[in-house]
Parts: sequence; C-alpha cells; structure tokens
Amino acid sequence: MSLAEKLAQERRARLAAERLLHLKQAELSAANRKLGRHAIALTRQIDETQAEVATVRDENEKVKSDLTMAHAKIEVAERRLWHSIQTIPDGFAFFDGNNTLIGANAAYLSVFDGLEEVAPGITYPRLLEILTCEGIVDIGADRTEDWLARMLDRWAQPHPEPMVIQLWNGQYIRLIDQRGHGGDVLSLALNITATVRHEAELNAARERAEAANRAKSAFLANMSHEIRTPMNGIVGMTELLTETPLNEEQRLYISTIRNSGEALLVIINDVLDYSKIEADKLTLHPEQFDLERCILEVAMLLQPSVRDKGLTLLVDYDLFLPTLFVGDPGRIRQILTNLVGNAVKFTAQGHVLVRVTGVPDASAQSCDIHVAIEDTGIGIEADKIAHIFGEFNQIEDAQNRQFEGTGLGLAITKRLITMMGGTVWVESDVGRGSCFGFRISLPTAEGPQPAPPDLADQLRHVLLVEDLAVNRAILTKQLGRLGSRVSVCSSGAEALSLLDDSIDLVLCDHDLPDMDGLELATTLRDKGWGDLPVVVMSSSPGAIHVDPAHRLIDGVLQKPIPRAELYSRLQALGAPVFNPDRREERDTRPKAQKQVSPDQRQMRVLAAEDNRTNQLILKKMTKDLNIDLRFVCNGLEAVETFDTFAPDLIFMDISMPGMDGKEATAEIRRREIGTNRRTPVVALTAHAMAGDDQGILAAGLDHYLTKPLHKKLIHDMILQHRPDGACPIIEDIEPAG
Ligand code: ADP
Repeated sequence: MSLAEKLAQERRARLAAERLLHLKQAELSAANRKLGRHAIALTRQIDETQAEVATVRDENEKVKSDLTMAHAKIEVAERRLWHSIQTIPDGFAFFDGNNTLIGANAAYLSVFDGLEEVAPGITYPRLLEILTCEGIVDIGADRTEDWLARMLDRWAQPHPEPMVIQLWNGQYIRLIDQRGHGGDVLSLALNITATVRHEAELNAARERAEAANRAKSAFLANMSHEIRTPMNGIVGMTELLTETPLNEEQRLYISTIRNSGEALLVIINDVLDYSKIEADKLTLHPEQFDLERCILEVAMLLQPSVRDKGLTLLVDYDLFLPTLFVGDPGRIRQILTNLVGNAVKFTAQGHVLVRVTGVPDASAQSCDIHVAIEDTGIGIEADKIAHIFGEFNQIEDAQNRQFEGTGLGLAITKRLITMMGGTVWVESDVGRGSCFGFRISLPTAEGPQPAPPDLADQLRHVLLVEDLAVNRAILTKQLGRLGSRVSVCSSGAEALSLLDDSIDLVLCDHDLPDMDGLELATTLRDKGWGDLPVVVMSSSPGAIHVDPAHRLIDGVLQKPIPRAELYSRLQALGAPVFNPDRREERDTRPKAQKQVSPDQRQMRVLAAEDNRTNQLILKKMTKDLNIDLRFVCNGLEAVETFDTFAPDLIFMDISMPGMDGKEATAEIRRREIGTNRRTPVVALTAHAMAGDDQGILAAGLDHYLTKPLHKKLIHDMILQHRPDGACPIIEDIEPAG
C-alpha cells in the first residue's frame, strides 16, 4: 500500500476516531447534564427528607415527653389508688384467671398475720388452706375438707354468692367476689363485725320487747278470763232476777245491769281474743261443721237487734254450694258475728244481706268460699277504709261516736281470716252502705251434702209476694233453680189480682205494706182459694203462731230461711196440694202436741257444775221445764251418775276440780263403747270460744255453750235432745207448721 493510501487510511481512521470521540463527548455531556439534574433532585429530596426527619424527631420528642408525663400521671394515679386501697379498712385483692394473687391491700394481708408466703403469686386455693391450717378462720362444726370444698366450689362459680365467714378473733367478714372478663377476680373482704353485733343486739332487744309484749298480752288474756267468771254470775243472776216479781223501776235497774254486764262481756271477749292472738296463743281447731247452719245461728243470735231496729236480715246461700266443710266453726262464727254484727250496728234502716257463693274444686276436695255481708247503713268514708282493720280503730267522728265498740272487732276478724289463709276486704259508699267480703278455702267434709230437690213437677208456678226487692231477687233465683216458675209482686192487693189456677203456692212475706201475711191468707180463703197453699215468711214467727188465723196457712218460714227448711217445706207441699181433705186437716189437726201417756217418763238431764251460783242459774232457768235435772260437782261424780242415772242429756262444765269436763266426757264415751248409746254432752265453758279449750269437741262433747248461760239456748238444747219415750218438756209447746 502506498504511503498516500496509508495516510489516507490513517486520516480516515483519525476522522472516524474523532467522530467517535465527539459522539462520546456529546453522550458524556448529556449524561453529565442528566447527572446534574439528578443531583439537584436528589439534593432537593435529601433536604425534604431531612426536614421530615426533623419534624418526626420533634414529634417523637413530644410523644416521648407526653409518654413520660402520662407515665408519671399513671404512676401517681396508681399510687393514689393503691394508697386509697391500702387505707380502706376492708380487704381488697385481685386474682388473675389462674387464681393467682396479683395484689392485695394491707387489710387483706393483715388477716394472714405477716405470713411471708401470702404475697402476690400465691393461689386462692392455697390461701384457703392457710386460713384453715393456721386456724385463722372459724369453720365451726364443719370438717376442714368440707369447708374447703364448699369455698372452692363457690369460687369457681361465674358469679360467686356473697358469704360471711367468721375469724378466730370473732370478727365477721363478708366476702364479695366479682369475676371480670378473662377470668380475673376482684375480691372484697368487708369487715361487718360491728353490723353483725348491732344486728344481734337489735334482735335481742326485739325479742325482749316481744317477750314483754307477749307477757303483757298473756296477762291481759288471763285478766279478761278472770273477769269473765264473776261477770257471768252477774249477768246470769240478773237474767233470773228479771223473772221474779219486780216493779217498773226495779225492772229498769235490772235490765241496765244486765245490758251493761253483757256489753262488758263483749268487750272482755274482744280483749281476750286480741291479746291471745298477740300472745301467739290462739290456734285454730278444725272439725267438720255446717257453714250454712253456722251463718243461720249467727243470724238468729242477731235477730233481736235486727227486729228492734226494724231491719231485715237475709241469707243468700248458693243453692248448689256444699254446706259441710272442715274448719274452725267457733272462729268462723266469730268472724261472721263481727261482720254481720257491725252491719246491723251501723244500719238504721233497710237490710243486711249475707251472700255466700263458692267454687268447689272437686279434685282438691275443697271449696273457695266467698262470703259478702252487704248493708244499707251509714257507710265508711274512703280515707277511713284503710284504717278500719287496724287495732283500736273506731272511726272518730260525731256520727260514729254514738256506736259502742272496742274497735278491735275488725282487727280480730282480719287476723282470724289471715290465719285461715283467706283475705278480707271492704267496699263502701257513704250514706248508702258497706259490703264486707272475705274469701277462705275450706276442705269439703265427707258425707252427704244437702241436694236441692227438683220441684219442676210439684210446684210449677209460685206466686212470691215480698216488698223487699233484694229478698224477691234471692227467692226468685232459688225457686227458679229448683225448677219453679215464679211470679213476683210486692203487695197483698197485687197478689190477689194476680191469682190464677196455674199457681201452686203463694209464698208471702208477713210484713207487706198493705196487709200482713195472715190477712192475705184470710182474704184469699174468703175469695174461694181454699186449697191453695200459703206459706208465710217472717223474722218473728212467734207472733204468727199466737194468731188464730195461722191455721189458714200451710206454714211459717223463719227469715232468714235455712235452705234445708225451704226444701223440705216446699217438697212437703208438693204432692197433696189439691187434696180436698187437706183444708180440714189444716183446721183441725192437733198442733205438735205430743200425747202424754201415763207411762211416759221425764227426760233425764245431768248437769256437772262445781260452781254453786252457776248451778242455781241453771236450776232456775229450767224450773218451768218438765225434766228430771240432777246436779253433780265434778267429773268423777258425772261419770258415776252417768252409770246410775242414764241421762238423756248432759251439761258439762269444763273446768272442774279433780276430773275435768273433757276427761269425764272421754270416760263416758269409753263406757258407751259396745252399747248403742250416745249421750249428747253439751260443754258449758267460761271461755269465750271453744277454741280456747283444745279438744273440747275432740274429747267427745257434741256442743258447747259459753257462759253466761242463756235460758233460750239451754231450752233449745233440752228440746232438741228430748228422747222419743219422754213426756213433753213444755206442756203448751206448739211449733208451727
Ligand atoms: P267496733 O267495736 O267499733 O265495731 P270494729 O273493729 O268492728 O270495731 O270496727 C271498726 C270501725 O269500722 C267501726 O267503729 C266503724 O266505724 C267501722 N265499721 C265497721 N263495720 C261497719 C259497717 N258495716 N258500716 C259502717 N262502718 C263500719
């Protein structure tokens, strides 16, 4: 190759290299420029980051200082909390979910008396063990294992019941443990020693006060009982004295003594009963009894005041309600006497109605009995109603002050009803009347309950003549349920206008506004209704019997009318109503006069009574009766005389020296075993109620009469038990119809 070529070649090569160099230099400077831009961006970024870092650092510093402050605050709060927890006198501890102690205050730990082991980290079961091993807790008669098991069982509950433990030093600690989320337990051990001691002192004081109150009530009960005995003598003697020849002035004095004595006895009985309830000495003595009879007896007892005040006392005993129950008849009679007695006392005109309904529960053989006593009296103001069942709560106002009373009657009534598991209430409308009601549940007695007859075929149509709307309603309902159609009217004239051949019976009140029952019967007979049976209802049938016109009627029903009496009277009327001989029979038949044949003997009555005054009273009260009365002074003599005298009836005083009345009766009942004799024995007791003498009736006595003795009740007993073979007790006795 030529030099020129070589040179050209070199030049070309140099040119190419120079171009390449240029290219590279351009690239380099481009890269440099890019680098420069990057460096600038980076620097900017670094600046920004540095600023951010500075901010974060500042923030961190702030957070740190905040944290330190918060920490300090928490520490202070925690210190304060612990300080407070430490200073409270009650124990306080925390346990974690594994039952390990996390912390406890000094009071909690002090119980363990400095035992080193008792510190955070110890478990609850171990604490319990220490309590028992070290004798810190008084577990009484419990076995240690039992006590521990019980405590652990309680601890394991989700919500352990608070409990009280006693420590060796007599302190009482109430443990309250609360389980939180995660199983932590907060445990409080409150020292309640002072409260327990205070409570014990209060209890002791209350018991002392109650004992004193019972002693006072027992004293009152004894005193009232002691006062009763001489009072009985006074009242009994005045009753006899009224039967001796007296002038008007003497009669007034005697009746004042007697009324005052009887009033005093009522008060004493109330005080006696109330103090017995207070002294917890009153118990109920359930036995079989007839509720309807009980109500009617109360009605009879109150009849004199009902009659004196011109009121009407009515009993509406649900026809389909049983009458035989098991309960304490003495106390039920007392409840009724109080409520019906009040109704009569606080009613000046109108009526008092005792309404008895009930819901028998056949499966439980019991009956929910509901008794309501309605009156048309003065009523009770609404704001007084709440108080009248309290003690000594006579309503204090001018109107009420005219009525006597202790203000104990309703308090006793309420207590008695409550004792029987019942409730009592009252509704009242001032000026219009009150309605007292009570509800008790009594077992029904076994045995036949009176069943209402079906009179649909016998007495198809009854004409009821009664001016008192409430009695009209009662009788219409009762007769309707027996199957009769009833037409009602309220006067004699109206009755006469309504008569027609369809009527089978005229049932009329005696006190009609235009004529009395006998006048109606007379008019009716005069008008040719000779065979139509007429039955007259009256609160005082005695007045009807003495009127010769009573032969024109077919019977008298005593108001309030016993259901059994109504049934039997209506049933007896049923069949022979249109028998023409009946009129004849009505006019001429000898009235209940028993034929006395010479071989008839006197009824034998034995009276066991140690008190001479009471003997005298009984003798005088029966002096007009044709009976053979014999006295003995104690139970032993009563038993001996029972063998030799064979009495038809025995009056038996209960408290007698030696053998008392209950023992004597029990002995007599033993002697009757194997014979077919069952001599009726009537207890004469000074106690207010039969319930006073536990087991009077259980000892075999059939009835009881409380002293002071009442001539009528004594006579009733004797008349009721006259044996068939004995001659009449009262020669001119003439029970009606
Ligand atoms: P008291 O011995 O005074 O009758 P109670 O406890 O039986 O005592 O009655 C308390 C009071 O309740 C009576 O004084 C009377 O004010 C009032 N009260 C009771 N029953 C009736 C009633 N049926 N009508 C009006 N007020 C009555």
